[in-house]
Amino acid sequence: MNKEELWQALLAQIQFNISKASFATWFKGTNIISAKDGEIMVSVPNNFSKEWLENKYNKIIFKILHNLDGGVREVKYNVLASHAAAPEIQSAAAVSDNAISSISQLDFPELKVDKETNLNPRYTFDSFIVGPFNELAHAAALAIVRSPGQAYNPLFVYGGVGLGKTHLVQSIGNEIFQKFPEKKIRYMSSEKFTSGIVDSIKNHDIEKFKSFYKNIDLLIIDDIQFLAGKEKTQEEFFHIFNNLYEKNKQIVISSDRPPKAISALEERLRSRFEGGMIADISLPDLETRVAILKAKAQEKKSSFSAEIIEYIATNIQRNIRELEGALNRINAYQKLNNRAPDIETTKMLLKNAIFSPKKIINPEKIVKATAFFFDLKEADLIDVSRKKEIVKPRQVAMYLLRNELKCSFPFIGRKFGGKDHTTAIHAYNKIAKELEKDENLAEEISLIKEQACRL
Ligand code: ADP
Ligand code: MG
Repeated sequence: MNKEELWQALLAQIQFNISKASFATWFKGTNIISAKDGEIMVSVPNNFSKEWLENKYNKIIFKILHNLDGGVREVKYNVLASHAAAPEIQSAAAVSDNAISSISQLDFPELKVDKETNLNPRYTFDSFIVGPFNELAHAAALAIVRSPGQAYNPLFVYGGVGLGKTHLVQSIGNEIFQKFPEKKIRYMSSEKFTSGIVDSIKNHDIEKFKSFYKNIDLLIIDDIQFLAGKEKTQEEFFHIFNNLYEKNKQIVISSDRPPKAISALEERLRSRFEGGMIADISLPDLETRVAILKAKAQEKKSSFSAEIIEYIATNIQRNIRELEGALNRINAYQKLNNRAPDIETTKMLLKNAIFSPKKIINPEKIVKATAFFFDLKEADLIDVSRKKEIVKPRQVAMYLLRNELKCSFPFIGRKFGGKDHTTAIHAYNKIAKELEKDENLAEEISLIKEQACRL
């Protein structure tokens, strides 16, 4: 059997093992480039397919190939450049949506998050565009960088989803880190903060937890609205807050709404927040949206016609992350085709982003994507079964429901075969903990998330 026949035989078999959609998504455009000394090199159209094949299908691919040819020892995957530079000009329709999405996902290589501070170096003031919608928050942030702990304390930044809260509060951290390397800085999402507290209570070392925070010079807590209703966490946070505040240590907080509007927030915390500076981020106007798109295009060393930029800026108004997403798609198209799309093509490429801004994931999509990833039936995943191979996938699904959709633990328990909420809490904590040390798991989870978004 030559290498083409070998691959054809594999495709024929694998088709029976996976769904039609997954087959089309992950196996179309694959081939064997070389087969030497038992090492099979498979060409794939892009990095995303490569990751997916390596993480999810490698076992079955290897098994089938090995059955077909006992000499096969190893299978490797390689992104073939010629796939990207397609010889003939393709129409937008001919470029698969998946290829576009997968490339655009890869456009933002996540810089490494600093272990000590938890800050992502990608978020800086340099890349933060200022317009009337965020200038107050921006000015307050700069004042804090100039004199941490002295200008406004705490700084409370609030605004809607995807409007730059995380970017801004992390920029404060990164800039202070540059200017005052001796200062101890800590960025925390409020969920991480909460799970830290829950864990240390469980392990009876809450004092250690608290004393860690005593020594911090700049504490940034992102998305504080998630502390709503968590009384114990709020109480511990209150003590940590007061301790830092009294020592003139800077505290920066973000939220999707002003302190007044966070229900189930202890009154004493609310009044603490209101005692500092409250700055909102509203919606960027058209001019600023255009400026943001231009700056982001430049970051990617791309440029697009004024018409395209304006089309995107006019149609996406409420979320900078979505502006970025649209730009990534156009950019991916350009990379695949070696030319910029015209306006008609742009409209087609952005149809989903613009007309159904609901790319929303829901519990069903998460369950589906998780089952798909682990090659299970959905029913098995949500069933009461205690089969060992189901335990982890189920915990992952529960984790995602909590983390992505903020589902309540009782809801999650019910969803999975009427289990108790403590099972859901246990699953969530377990995965959250493993995520801290297991990079593969983090990768798997982000693949599942991406898949859920596409369903
Ligand atoms: P939020 O935390 O408010 O949901 P993020 O800070 O995560 O929003 O911002 C979403 C995306 O938009 C990020 O990629 C961020 O870099 C980008 N972004 C937000 N605001 C700006 C801005 N003013 N200038 C440039 N990029 C921005
Ligand atoms: Mg955020």
